[in-house]
Amino acid sequence: PQRTLVLVKPDGVRRRLSGEVLRRIEAKGYTLVAAELRVAPTELLEEHYAEHAGKPFLPALVEFMHSGPVLAAVVEGYRVIEGFRSLAGATDPTVAAPGTIRGDLAHDVGSPLIENVVHGSDSPESAAREIALWFPSL
Ligand code: ATP
Repeated sequence: PQRTLVLVKPDGVRRRLSGEVLRRIEAKGYTLVAAELRVAPTELLEEHYAEHAGKPFLPALVEFMHSGPVLAAVVEGYRVIEGFRSLAGATDPTVAAPGTIRGDLAHDVGSPLIENVVHGSDSPESAAREIALWFPSL
């Protein structure tokens, strides 16, 4: 089966939402393969967000992602990449559909950076790249 990288971002960990996110993933029927709480080094975060290199919000995004621990997890299941993105909802939490993680648990707090609780890989190529980056031993 397919694997994806899920991150509960520092806003989600600070707001005690890690368990709620894992609960939704497991309730959906997906399998946790690995999970670890850690403060990610900025070098790792710059690699992780390589597709955003040069974008104006990248430095703030890296600083935010480094501001506290993230819960990094590898989640497995048939079509899990698409399935988790559907669980997560739209990037802007103000308009993310109710029923989704972002739609139920977050709103735009007016910071220049979008704080939206979770990250999920967006394609098989990003999933492979991100899992190798965060869990090199897998
Ligand atoms: P993620 O990759 O975190 O699952 P996503 O795929 O919905 O989210 P991306 O476009 O990959 O969104 O952006 C990565 C993250 O960068 C977003 O989740 C958000 O936190 C932040 N971000 C994206 N676009 C902006 C923006 N225009 N202004 C501020 N922050 C942004």
